[in-house]
Order: sequence, then structure tokens, then C-alpha cells
Amino acid sequence: MSQLLSTHGLKAWYGDFQALFGIDFEIRPQEIVAIIGSNGAGKSTFLNTVMGVLAADPASVRFKDQPIGGCKTHRIVAGGIAMVPEGRRLFPSLSVEENLRMGAYTKRPGPWDLKKIYRLFPVLKEKRSVPGTAISGGQQQMVAIGRALMSNPELLICDEISLGLAPAVIKEIYAALAEVARNGLTAIIVEQDVYTAQNMSQRLYCFQEGRVSLSGNSSDLTHEQISHAYFGV
Ligand code: ATP
Repeated sequence: MSQLLSTHGLKAWYGDFQALFGIDFEIRPQEIVAIIGSNGAGKSTFLNTVMGVLAADPASVRFKDQPIGGCKTHRIVAGGIAMVPEGRRLFPSLSVEENLRMGAYTKRPGPWDLKKIYRLFPVLKEKRSVPGTAISGGQQQMVAIGRALMSNPELLICDEISLGLAPAVIKEIYAALAEVARNGLTAIIVEQDVYTAQNMSQRLYCFQEGRVSLSGNSSDLTHEQISHAYFGV
């Protein structure tokens, strides 16, 4: 299998408003691919279309050589894609550990369990009985990532995981993801921070007004190319 997930001419609408105008995208197993773009560029719309939250032509999204466009989200998750949503969305009445266990609801066979999550984020073990929303923003983001990993996904999608977090915390979280990546994670990371996106990924896409304005190997792209694609200047 050369690609794990790909989209071909992917379009998306909110009623009459067209938000995506034919996105061609691909990610191969064990790759980290970043998506950058300004507010409203279509990044979240793209992720929501891949996850089946928004309608899509079946053939315009393929996962493991199967068309999945427009499939129900729970089937996509069971098929092996997990998303860390923007804003973390933890269950407020559940403890850290219960939140993590929720990720195992559609568990697939694989290496991830509570023990491994606690090894990755030791602070979560200390806080395991505390309500998920009574911990810091960075720790909540660790829970959201741990919860997604608990389902043993073949593809992890992270939507703006650094939003609102202090630089030191962002560094810590990305260091943990880099460690997971060394053991063969495949992930799409959507990032506002271009520097982090470029450093964390092997390949990068920039979206602008619902289109891909730039794509290439992250280490080959120049600052000028990225600013042109990002801001259109
Ligand atoms: P951000 O970084 O702000 O989350 P984004 O790149 O994720 O931006 P999207 O949220 O995908 O961008 O938005 C793409 C376009 O679709 C924008 O013009 C936005 O206003 C519009 N849009 C997003 N959500 C909706 C919605 N629920 N109803 C109508 N239009 C929407």
C-alpha cells in the first residue's frame, strides 16, 4: 500500500457555501504530514470531511484502498482513524483515567493501553483520579492525545493541539508525539504555528481559501514559499 489515506478532488459545502474546492492530499504509512493555513482556509473542514462529519463524494476519500467519503464517523474510527479534536472536548464529569478509557471504546488490536499512555505522559498517572477538566490545559491536551491513541489508530489526526498552550508545554507535547512517531506513528497535524508544523513533519500542505496553495517536503520548502502560500502575498 503506497498511501494510507488520500483525497482526490475533495469538495465540501456548508449549505450553499463551498468551503473546499478539490483538495488532493496523500499520506503514506509512518509519515507525519502537516497542514497549515490561516483562519478560514479550510483545515477543519478538510478534517471533518475525512472523519465523515461532513458529506463527501465516496470516492473522493480513500483509506487503505477503500472509498470512505461520507461514511459514518463511528465506522471511520473503527476502521482505524482517530482524531484529537480542536478544543480537546474531554468529558467533564469523568476522571482523567475514565476519559482515557473512553478512547478504548472502539479499541482495535495494537500496542496502546493505559500503562503505555502513562509512560508517555507520566503526569496523567499522578492525576488519574482527578476530573478531566480540573487539570491544566496542557494536561487536558495530553489526555485528548492519550484517548485517541487508546483506540490503537493507524492514522492519528491532531487538530491544532498547540492552541492556547504555553511554548514549554507545546514543546513537551510535540516531544512526546515525536517519540511515538519514532515507533511508527502515521499522523496528520494541523497547526497554526508554521515553525512547529515544518519541524514536526516530513511533508507539508498549505491551504488557502479551500485550495492547496503549496505542498512539498517540509525540509525543502523555503520561508518565502510558505509565506506566499499562507498569506497569498
Ligand atoms: P481555523 O483555523 O479558524 O479553524 P480553518 O482553516 O479550520 O480555520 P474552516 O473552519 O475549515 O477553516 O473554515 C473554512 C470556511 O468554511 C470558512 O470560510 C468558514 O467561515 C466556513 N465555515 C466553517 N464552518 C462553517 C459552518 N459550520 N457553517 C458555515 N460556514 C462554515
